[in-house]
Amino acid sequence: TSPIRIGIIGYGNLGRGVEAAIARNPDMVLTGIYTRRDPSQLKPSHAGTPVHAMDSLLAHKGQLDVLILCGGSKDDLPRQAPELAAHFNLVDSFDTHARIPEHFANVDRAAQAGQTTALISAGWDPGMFSINRVMGEALLPDGATYTFWGKGLSQGHSDAIRRVPGVAGGVQYTVPVQAAVDKVRSGVRPELSTREKHTRECFVVLAEGADAEAVRQTIVGMPHYFDQYDTTVHFISAEELAREHGAMPHGGFVIRSGNTSDACKQVVEYRLQLDSNPEFTSSVLVAYARAVHRLRQMGQTGCKTVFDVAPGLLSPKSAAALREELL
Ligand code: NDP
Repeated sequence: TSPIRIGIIGYGNLGRGVEAAIARNPDMVLTGIYTRRDPSQLKPSHAGTPVHAMDSLLAHKGQLDVLILCGGSKDDLPRQAPELAAHFNLVDSFDTHARIPEHFANVDRAAQAGQTTALISAGWDPGMFSINRVMGEALLPDGATYTFWGKGLSQGHSDAIRRVPGVAGGVQYTVPVQAAVDKVRSGVRPELSTREKHTRECFVVLAEGADAEAVRQTIVGMPHYFDQYDTTVHFISAEELAREHGAMPHGGFVIRSGNTSDACKQVVEYRLQLDSNPEFTSSVLVAYARAVHRLRQMGQTGCKTVFDVAPGLLSPKSAAALREELL
């Protein structure tokens, strides 16, 4: 069978991650990277990968099996996914949890009209963590589910501290509280407040002449982002920020604890420990692109989520090989 032809839409962290992931999946080939910026200014990691302007995408329709959308959830995906689902099979990583139903409806309308298959909100959360939450509830109906994030760099919270007056640069890490994780793992099903589950740690470079205490107060009191958490602010130099905080590690756990009888406690845990959040997210997107291609070939069109995809469809191996090797 011929390789699955992939197009990358948008070349940021995820775009680079998808490029790297495709190189490790021999049943796929990267047809091109599509960008809204000047294509001649982008330097793909693999010299020789074609970079095109977004305007040329529709003309390449016959050369692409699945698009992997690598734009941002806030402004790019709500526009791009419905627009492109009218013409192409696609996968995106839309992660604004509260707006997923609305995004699903918009993409579904376009995919139904265009008879394409479009899978939204793949990645790790939403994505792999969502699957593990569903499994936990289905297998242990008498129980409780806990999601912990980190230790990891939060892009949204890092952006928020960088907007504080007097801040020249900075990053924010979300850290699970070990005592809370231990309690959950013991199977006692604790009730945990937001403050009890995670702490927030900020590394901030002050702008010249800025008042450190005033900056600290503004950060720890910021509504929604920090006010419900115990937040620590460390002031560091620009050199230290560049040297120690350039990577994008992340991870976390989904834990379900429940009872199958009064005497029997059962605890199930799924854990991620990631050196690079975008590279892992991209690897998930690529596996789901394979599934989308197969669903389209089976005539299953419209908008899908990770809940609709059977695990075997993610694997490059045949159903027979999977039964023999992994069942
Ligand atoms: P980036 O900000 O790196 O890239 C987003 C888009 O911005 C790119 O597609 C690109 O589009 C444009 N862009 C990138 N770099 C530049 C630049 N230097 N100048 C101007 N434009 C640029 O975002 P990420 O790749 O890190 O993340 C994308 C989304 O993925 C996030 O918004 C997040 O919501 C989601 N995500 C989901 C996860 C999940 O588990 N479901 C996990 C992690 C992230 P173009 O080339 O067209 O200009």
